[in-house]
Amino acid sequence: MDDAPARAAQLADYHVREVVDCVRCPLHQTRTQVVLGSGDPNAELMFVGEAPGYHEDRLGIPFVGQAGKLLDKLLAGIGLTREEVFVANVLKCRPPGNRDPLAAEIEECEGHLFRQVGIIQPKLICTLGNFATKLISGRPDGISRVHGHELPIEIGGHSLLLYPLFHPAAALYTPSMLATLEVDFARIPELTGRTVSIPAPGATATAPAVTVEAEPITVAAPADALVGEPEQLGLF
Ligand code: URA
Repeated sequence: MDDAPARAAQLADYHVREVVDCVRCPLHQTRTQVVLGSGDPNAELMFVGEAPGYHEDRLGIPFVGQAGKLLDKLLAGIGLTREEVFVANVLKCRPPGNRDPLAAEIEECEGHLFRQVGIIQPKLICTLGNFATKLISGRPDGISRVHGHELPIEIGGHSLLLYPLFHPAAALYTPSMLATLEVDFARIPELTGRTVSIPAPGATATAPAVTVEAEPITVAAPADALVGEPEQLGLF
């Protein structure tokens, strides 16, 4: 059965009813608008970033600043466009000055993300950076340790693969990190093709990685929407 129209309608309905006018946390007082997420509601591949920045808050679309441009290039390197994936954030509203999300904000907002995941039912979620990775994995391990290591998870009874990646903004600060992101991105097509079942407790999931040729990527400009050092921004 083709669920695409149903998913699009469900997502639009949820957004209108629950998210657009959300006042669950004080960020509603300083936002220009809620940044719901964008892309294909029927996507097999979903990316979850941290929070809207200046440009995202203005335009209402995630990842439209410098980090977003790099995300687009990384996607192009594996033959994908933004229209073929779904992109969302842990927080739907911009923290003032692009500060880190607060635990209380994440707690109030996480229901929106988990509902989006429940409707879209992606096969693979790529978390970008520490905040998304810790929220979706439910584990405290930092991104430097877990990036590039897929993990079978279950969200709302739906089995999928979690694939933690460095936040693209980290590569804007540290160009050598671009190579790591490219290597990790190159495995996305293979991971999206896997059928996931949750292993029994104690079992480890292993599968050989396939190498996918990725286009080299150049970063043109520094992040203009980010304030602070990468560590402070939770990027490493
Ligand atoms: N833009 C977003 O939408 N999310 C991020 O995490 C960074 C930039």
